Amino acid sequence: MNALPVSDAESARRREDVLRELNLYPLWQLRNVPVTTNVPEVPAVAVAAAELRAEQTVVSEVPHADIGSLNWPELKKRVQDCTACKLRAGCTQTVFGTGDENADWLFVGSWPSEDDDAKGEPFAGPAGQLLDNMLAAIKLQRGVNVYLANVVKCSGSIKHSPQADEIAQCSPYLARQIQLIQPKMIVALGHAAATALLGEDREWSSLLGKVHDYRESSKVGLQQSIPLVVTHHPAALLLTPLNKAQTWRDLCLARDTMPCPVSDAG
Ligand code: SF4
Repeated sequence: MNALPVSDAESARRREDVLRELNLYPLWQLRNVPVTTNVPEVPAVAVAAAELRAEQTVVSEVPHADIGSLNWPELKKRVQDCTACKLRAGCTQTVFGTGDENADWLFVGSWPSEDDDAKGEPFAGPAGQLLDNMLAAIKLQRGVNVYLANVVKCSGSIKHSPQADEIAQCSPYLARQIQLIQPKMIVALGHAAATALLGEDREWSSLLGKVHDYRESSKVGLQQSIPLVVTHHPAALLLTPLNKAQTWRDLCLARDTMPCPVSDAG
């Protein structure tokens, strides 16, 4: 027997249930985020200036030989001074990462947004607000037993998102952050972050709903394996809210995989 068609009212009710689970209802309706993937229009002179800065940037030698011995202040300084790729020319400042340096939870995005670049912190702006709601949905809070970082520390120029060689160039900084934090759970937000953390480009659909192993894939010499769960980046969720249902399942999987229960952050 064929399934009965889902009415519009029933479909809307189910969507509201998902949004409530993510602590987004009715805020989601009020925010009215425009659904567009267009790059904001930028004056030609700004583009030309960014391109000129990129051409003038002196790309340094790869500064990663001793990275495994750096402590937090040394690592932050190394990133701050880094000019190892041309992305540095297009950003206002490097975006190192933020949060509890002994956190059990590490959330990793791809590269800094314009909001991140302006603030100097990952997950600023609307995507960051959504991430905060995602954290709250599993009883976590930014800065409390949570560390936030991106794979790439510079936002790049207006017309140039990070390329594979630039991601590879910057990844050792994140690897050292993970060595220092020793989190109990890594949540990779988006395909680029998952690819960098797993060391290989897998089909997106095969990444979701599973627990992966950061150590096994990346071979970074940690004493213990770290479980890794992949889900959608909050910026992508702003464009495709229906994927929040999958994100909720992934976050629950991560929460349930943790060796110790999550306590209320508040
Ligand atoms: Fe250095 Fe990474 Fe910035 Fe490139 S993106 S300049 S490797 S910090």
